[in-house]
Amino acid sequence: MISKKLLMVTHSIEQSAQPATEKILLGKSLAELTDWVQQQGQPAYRGKQIYQWLYQKGARSLADISVLPKKWRENLTYYPLGRSEIHYRSIAPDRTRKYLLRLADGLIIETVGIPSAKRLTVCVSSQVGCPMACDFCATGKGGFTRNLKAYEIVDQVLTVREDFGERVSNVVFMGMGEPLINLDEVVAAVKSLNQDVGIGARSLTISTVGLPGKIRELARHKLQVTFAVSLHASNQQLREQLIPSAKHYPLDVLLDECREYVQITGRRVSFEYILLSGINDLPKHARELARHLKGFQSHVNLIPYNPIQEADYQRPSKKAIEQFKNLLKQERIAVSIRYSRGLEADAACGQLRSSRI
Ligand code: SAH
Repeated sequence: MISKKLLMVTHSIEQSAQPATEKILLGKSLAELTDWVQQQGQPAYRGKQIYQWLYQKGARSLADISVLPKKWRENLTYYPLGRSEIHYRSIAPDRTRKYLLRLADGLIIETVGIPSAKRLTVCVSSQVGCPMACDFCATGKGGFTRNLKAYEIVDQVLTVREDFGERVSNVVFMGMGEPLINLDEVVAAVKSLNQDVGIGARSLTISTVGLPGKIRELARHKLQVTFAVSLHASNQQLREQLIPSAKHYPLDVLLDECREYVQITGRRVSFEYILLSGINDLPKHARELARHLKGFQSHVNLIPYNPIQEADYQRPSKKAIEQFKNLLKQERIAVSIRYSRGLEADAACGQLRSSRI
C-alpha cells in the first residue's frame, strides 16, 4: 500500500519497468566495469574511464562520457547508467534541501542534503516507503512499495553532491525505509559509497529500528560504519505502543544483540530516543533507560519529536528535554541532543513522505 498522493504521482508519470540491475552501470566496481568493457570488445582502460566518470565526475548518461568512442557509445543504449531525475526540490531557511527523486520505474523517493560549516550530510532512503509503521513517523503512515537497489542509494548521494556542487562528507541511512530489511543492497551501497565515491566508512551511519537476528547479521559484515538503533522507549510495553514490530522483538533480546554487535565489530552503538511529551520523556523513563544501558559501550542521541500531521504527539519543553539529558548524564550515560534540521521543508527526521507533490 502506498499513500494516495504518491499513487497519483506514480500513475500520472508514464510507468516503465525497472531496468535489469545487471545492465545498470552505477553500483559496479572498477573490476566489474573492466570485465564488462572487455566483454564488449573494448580495451580494459575503458573500464577505468567509465568508473571515473560515474563516481567522480557524476555522469548522467553514456553520452556525457565523451572520452568513449562515439560509435560504441551509440550501441550501448541498453545499458542505463542508473541515475534518477530530480522531480521536486525544496530549500528550508537553514539551507537544508529536500529532494523528491523519480526512479526509472516512476516511483518517488526522498533524499535530504544537510549542509553545515564543515560538512555536507546526505540522508538517504533505503526503501520506497516503509513497512514498519512506527506511530510517530510520517514515512510509515504511507505504507511500503519496494526495496531500493544499491545503485539507487548511491545515486541519491551523487545527486546531492551535484546539486550542492560540494563533496559529500557524511551519509546517514535515515531517510525512508528500514535498512535492515534490505540488508544486502544496503551493504553493497555502503561498500560502493566507501570505495567508489570515497566517503570514509565511519562517516556512514546505518540506523535501524531493529529486527530479530538482523543486527547480528549486519555485525558479521564487519563494516566500520556508525551504527544507530532507534530505541525510543525505556521498557517493552512502551516500545510496543510506539513501534508495532517491537512485539516480535523483546527489548532485552534487542539489547543483547546490540552487545553482540559491539563484540563482533569493536564499534560502539548509538541509541536514538525520540522525546514525546508526557509519553516517554518523564524522569522515570530516563532512570529506566539508564538502568538498561549502564556499562554498555554506547551513546544516546535524544531527538525532540518533529510534528507530523497524522499523529498528535507533542514535542517536550526545552526544560523537560534538558532534564532528561541531565538525568542520563548523572547516571554516566553518554548523551547528546539532536535538533533536526530542515523542519520548514518537511525534511526533518520522520517527516519524509512525498508530501510536496
Ligand atoms: N527505519 C530506520 C531508519 C529511519 S531513521 C530507523 O527507524 O532507525 C529515521 C529516524 O528518525 C529514526 O531514529 C526515527 O525514529 C526518527 N523519527 C521518526 N519520526 C520522527 C519524528 N516525527 N520526529 C523526530 N524523529 C523521528
